[in-house]
Amino acid sequence: MGKALIIGCGGVASVTIHKCCQNSEVFEEIMIASRTKSKCDALKKKLDGGKTIIHTAQVDADKTEELIELIHGFKPDVVINLALPYQDLTIMDACLATKTHYIDTANYEPLDAAKFEYKWQWEYKEKFEKAGITALLGSGFDPGVTGVFSAYAQKHYFDEIHYLDILDANAGDHGYPFATNFNPEINIREVTANGSYWENGEWIETEPMEIKRVYNFPQIGEKDMYLLHHEELESLALNLNGIKRIRFFMTFGQSYITHLKCLENVGMTSIEPILYNGMEIVPLQFLKAVLPDPATLGPRTKGKTNIGCIFKGIKDGIEKTYYVYNVCDHEECYREVESQAISYTTGVPAMIGAMLVMNGTWQKPGVYNIEEFDPDPFMDALNKWGLPWVEDFAPELVDE
Ligand code: NDP
Repeated sequence: MGKALIIGCGGVASVTIHKCCQNSEVFEEIMIASRTKSKCDALKKKLDGGKTIIHTAQVDADKTEELIELIHGFKPDVVINLALPYQDLTIMDACLATKTHYIDTANYEPLDAAKFEYKWQWEYKEKFEKAGITALLGSGFDPGVTGVFSAYAQKHYFDEIHYLDILDANAGDHGYPFATNFNPEINIREVTANGSYWENGEWIETEPMEIKRVYNFPQIGEKDMYLLHHEELESLALNLNGIKRIRFFMTFGQSYITHLKCLENVGMTSIEPILYNGMEIVPLQFLKAVLPDPATLGPRTKGKTNIGCIFKGIKDGIEKTYYVYNVCDHEECYREVESQAISYTTGVPAMIGAMLVMNGTWQKPGVYNIEEFDPDPFMDALNKWGLPWVEDFAPELVDE
């Protein structure tokens, strides 16, 4: 059917690329372009020989001009941005200049402020409308599938959704005392930031990890989970009818929390540059360099993830609850695509979002969050491409 340009060649991109190759009817030709070309070439070598034709290129995605040249040369139908949130705007600019559809999995974040919000990308709405191209924001798992689950609940089961709790559990064990499952810099920026949730039209801010709950996850068991701010709260607060409160919880083990607290206390998680031996370094970026590369966790990680949404609302005047979730097994993911489940659960939805934009199912000019599209084709594709979901109409609820 067409061509996709994939920017970035890290943990998530590797899964998306494997999945594009499995779906060669849609992804006839792909280009993998990233900062370190050798990583793209190594992946191409592994996957060459299938039906999808793979090209590679070096690109600095902070430079719009370089991206424009690459897009003009390859002429993709879509650009799938799997670099880091810092590159979202330069890549969107290049898509505008070349009239190419855009997909990402994480919202823009300025490098010098640990603040992620949609305002910068939403400002592109009119420009994308005028250019006649689609930007699909947040096509990972959370954000991503959690938005699709929400749109599905709203379409099929509720007149109004009043309460939504998004629960992200990782019961994977990689055997290291401390490692992050995706890019350490992004992960640590996220969990050391203040928490927040949305209630009755306003944001309630909390200290980092201030709110803790225990939940008995299907197929995983009882876990401690902590309230975090998470980017999909911002768009879901606008896109769900009647919503009164949205919270996001993620599980962390005691060892992770103890290490993180210690690193924080000694200043290693700071994003303020410091002078070291005459050179400016950012402590968090240095920390990233000494931590295990998430891409190497795959073969060591055992256990499962469970990510899903619990809704409470009304249908035909009657109160109802609904839980929809996916359980993913780290070792099965590794056997299939040589990645652990965190990259897998993000990389598969990125491929699905790109497929739906490419085949026209999800094309509408402008900038949209994932819950603004019809969820049904995405829900079907999740079952087909490795992330089947389970429904529960009488779930245990999270304590107030
Ligand atoms: P990685 O660090 O593993 O990969 C990032 C890739 O981007 C690397 O290949 C890196 O190159 C490349 N890159 C970074 N900067 C540039 C640049 N300026 N120009 C070109 N390439 C660049 O990260 P992940 O794969 O773990 O995460 C990818 C994205 O997915 C992130 O935005 C993350 O926030 C998001 N994510 C979303 C989730 C969701 O559920 N929605 C969950 C997990 C992640 P190099 O190899 O040289 O370092």
